[in-house]
Amino acid sequence: MICRDPIVRLHSVAEAFFFLMATACESCGHAPLKPNGQLTRTADKQAPWQIESLCSSCSHRRKHTFTIQPDPTRASAQSDVVNATMEPSRAVDLLGWLTLFQTVLRAAQCESDRPSARQLVREAGLCLDEALKFYPDAAELPEMDAFFSEASRRHFRENPDWYRQSIWRDRREVMVDMEHGRKPGSRRW
Ligand SMILES: [Zn+2]
Repeated sequence: MICRDPIVRLHSVAEAFFFLMATACESCGHAPLKPNGQLTRTADKQAPWQIESLCSSCSHRRKHTFTIQPDPTRASAQSDVVNATMEPSRAVDLLGWLTLFQTVLRAAQCESDRPSARQLVREAGLCLDEALKFYPDAAELPEMDAFFSEASRRHFRENPDWYRQSIWRDRREVMVDMEHGRKPGSRRW
């Protein structure tokens, strides 16, 4: 039997980097993982993309293999667009995207360089957009298939209120104001 790492389905190059940020080290459990080098094309049609991660805690290295649809172009590889479709991510689950949103937003608040801070706010908003794709239209709570691991499912069962869609939709509205440089509550309509 051929034993190989699972192949993760991605929508973009940007999603690969968020996937690493949301993945814990298989050796020591430390997160986030950092990319060790570039995302590269392989000769394997089943797993045409790969990147190596390096754990900053125990220095464990691991290769992660991906498919990326649509096939990246030079331009799209530079883009920060995570997933242009309405399909929820298959690489990072709802808890992962909500955690990334909070982590990237905290990084934005600590960043003193204004253009960098603005880009981080934009990326935090993109993470929240990915999280919101897991909610069926008007449903206040997600379905269980929004969670990809037993640890995520347990977090949901123990903290259902944290997952209320209306809370995160409100946060997204505030983010839109931040991205446009308006203070929350200063909208004129
Ligand atoms: Zn480690």
